[in-house]
Amino acid sequence: MDARLLKYATADVPRYTSYPTAVRFADGFGHDTWRRWLNELPDDASLSIYVHIPFCRQMCWYCGCHTTIPNTYERAEAYVKRLLREIDMTAPLINGPKGRVTHFHFGGGTPTYLKDEHLSAIVEKVETLFGFADGAEIAIEMDPRTFDADKAKALAAMGFNRASFGVQDFEPRVQELVNRIQPYDMVARCVADLHAAGIERVNFDLMYGLPGQTEDSVMRSAELAAGLEPDRIAVFGYAHVPWFKKHQKMIREADMPDIEARYRQALAIKETLRANGYAAIGLDHYARDDDPMTRALHDHTLRRNFQGYTVDPADALIGFGTSAISQLPQGFAQSARDMARWATAMEEGRPAIDRGLELSDEDRMRAAIIEQLMCFLAARPDDIARAHGFDPAVLAASWDKLGELAADGLCVIADGEVRVPEERRLFVRTVAAAFDAYYKPVANRHAKAV
Ligand code: SF4
Repeated sequence: MDARLLKYATADVPRYTSYPTAVRFADGFGHDTWRRWLNELPDDASLSIYVHIPFCRQMCWYCGCHTTIPNTYERAEAYVKRLLREIDMTAPLINGPKGRVTHFHFGGGTPTYLKDEHLSAIVEKVETLFGFADGAEIAIEMDPRTFDADKAKALAAMGFNRASFGVQDFEPRVQELVNRIQPYDMVARCVADLHAAGIERVNFDLMYGLPGQTEDSVMRSAELAAGLEPDRIAVFGYAHVPWFKKHQKMIREADMPDIEARYRQALAIKETLRANGYAAIGLDHYARDDDPMTRALHDHTLRRNFQGYTVDPADALIGFGTSAISQLPQGFAQSARDMARWATAMEEGRPAIDRGLELSDEDRMRAAIIEQLMCFLAARPDDIARAHGFDPAVLAASWDKLGELAADGLCVIADGEVRVPEERRLFVRTVAAAFDAYYKPVANRHAKAV
């Protein structure tokens, strides 16, 4: 990697699953504001619902998720009771008819940690109080190590029609170093069980930058993963933040690839997946040609939200559970990340929202530019500014920054369009950051660009 790229690769930049990013959310967000926002949603607003299940059987050393390993199942059972209460409290604040949920996503943690009776109680609660739209996507994150044909059948019976799980790497030594033993045969059987049960849509996650990974090993893993024909594959770089995620101290820095190796691994995975018929989507997603995400890329309807790239067209995303983030037309609101605080709020029958941010008109305009760049690797910033009622002069500082990035080959500027060339796809966040009015390159605040 040449020296110009190296300085960008090692810089911390946001993932832009929202703009402004979650570090801008302010504490002490008012519950009245939250209730009003929900109340102001139009009667015909389409809804997306996210439920966070913060439990896993065993900790993967690389994990960056908001999860915990409970010592007894009773903790999860108590959590589900409170979650049902949260859904009960929230639903009456939203006006309009039922049947408007276009996407329902269970994330975590490992949602399949829950017993079937508890998972189905949550699905039924959402179905009863909100109602699914025709053709709604009902998706769940799962763990192949604690999955079998019966669980697949139970999920299908509950209405799940998409499942996603972390594959990360098939190499036994890498799996050992990250404390996630999950052989190829186990993953293959899991895919077969899902398909046999009628859950046709399957997503994988792969990772690079893990201890013990090499360019060859990630290519082999990507090849094997593609051979199982998941509809979508997301590829993430391992973010080593042991001061924030204590269990990551189990990963020895000496076993981790350096920045040059990470870069080569990311490119190797990209080339392997493309050679296997997957289209590259934005920064880090890959999808088969016949997948709705690939179609959304081509017809320019692809979106980006807290779950990453999505075809979800919903007007509002409502999150339930500790740490869940809601995205409403007015702004963002996040539930308490501390599970005890979230639980206390549920016991007291009040919202658990404790951070949030109301969008300004300028935030919306910059968010639109950043989303275009993150989704399509191209944007016409001045046109977007005008469409939002702004004089393009408001973007003068962004254009100055882009001039520097263009000189270093990260983007191309022509006829009012900013474009990230294919060979610089991994740096799209750096180009997007030029439009982030709040971005300061503070070390250890965001993930590394590569
Ligand atoms: S299964 Fe997923 S959420 Fe749970 S510890 Fe492993 S990486 Fe984290």
